[in-house]
Amino acid sequence: MILHIDKNIDSARLKQLADFYEAITITDDNKHVLVTPSAIKTIDDAHQQFVKEIFVFDTDIQLASRKYLKEKRNVTIGKNDIGGNSRNVLVAIGPCSVESVEQITQSAEFLKRLGLNTLRAGSFKPRTSPYTFQGLGIEGLKMLDKIRQDYGFSIITEVRDSTHVDDVIAYADIVQVGAKSMYDHGILRKCGKTNKPILLKRGFGTNLQEFVQAAEFILSGGNNNVILCERGIRTFETKTRFTLDLCGAAYLKENTNLPVILDPSHAMGYAYGVPDLARACMAMDIEGLLIEVHPNPKVALSDASQQLDHQQFENLFGTLKAIAGAINRTII
Ligand code: PEP
Ligand code: MN
Repeated sequence: MILHIDKNIDSARLKQLADFYEAITITDDNKHVLVTPSAIKTIDDAHQQFVKEIFVFDTDIQLASRKYLKEKRNVTIGKNDIGGNSRNVLVAIGPCSVESVEQITQSAEFLKRLGLNTLRAGSFKPRTSPYTFQGLGIEGLKMLDKIRQDYGFSIITEVRDSTHVDDVIAYADIVQVGAKSMYDHGILRKCGKTNKPILLKRGFGTNLQEFVQAAEFILSGGNNNVILCERGIRTFETKTRFTLDLCGAAYLKENTNLPVILDPSHAMGYAYGVPDLARACMAMDIEGLLIEVHPNPKVALSDASQQLDHQQFENLFGTLKAIAGAINRTII
């Protein structure tokens, strides 16, 4: 249950109410918001006088629920917005990992030529094997920072674990929490304490309820700027790396108030399938796409098999623009 409480309430009384209802308290410009376990569905008559609005839920999807906010939340990315009243669709591209100044500069030049504004590249990489490239760490964040300054792009980069969460939050414009980190509560709680947009990827063994509840940790920490990203789940199928859950995307669109982004690259795992899948994603009428694009995928240090080269992306981009136009979306 969510309770809206008048901003002028006495602080001791607010604490008493929060304790009584086992609630987390969030304070915004106009009110206090108490979020109780969803199992609590009514308030005592004596407390009515303090409560301006009450929202009751079937499950612990509460702050993220459409039953709470009918409109999609607005998230500002650089000079543009996604969600809210906008019809923008974010196309965020870049290599899986920042590997060198030369590689990331080539990527930035490519974005500039296409008129895109958001570069995505990881520097703390959550790899499946400890014996592979782990990312450039802080050095890579500094390379991305230089790109931001030189090109004015927004940078999406990922936080791998709680050891460098503060650094990543400081350097990123959008903090990506990867599929393998989705359950790291150290990360989720830190992400709740910043106002930077958080791109939360769905764990590949996570159902939709668990995924959105992870988003609730960030929202209930006080950060409203959460974006959900479906990136493929594990099924019995082994011919593709994962299975992109477009039904799940439809569910998230219908039932949550958070912008939704799709990542066909990690779902497919092979470049040959990414353009078709990306077009299907765009046709889902969601708020954005993440696509891995590398100047020379053959020598990429991570996720080499799935990254598009610049020519492949440019061919795809022409068709993405046509689909965006057909559904009245503007690519940012
Ligand atoms: C990535 O975006 O490069 C990545 C590691 O993705 P995921 O967390 O979805 O596996
Ligand atoms: Mn990757």
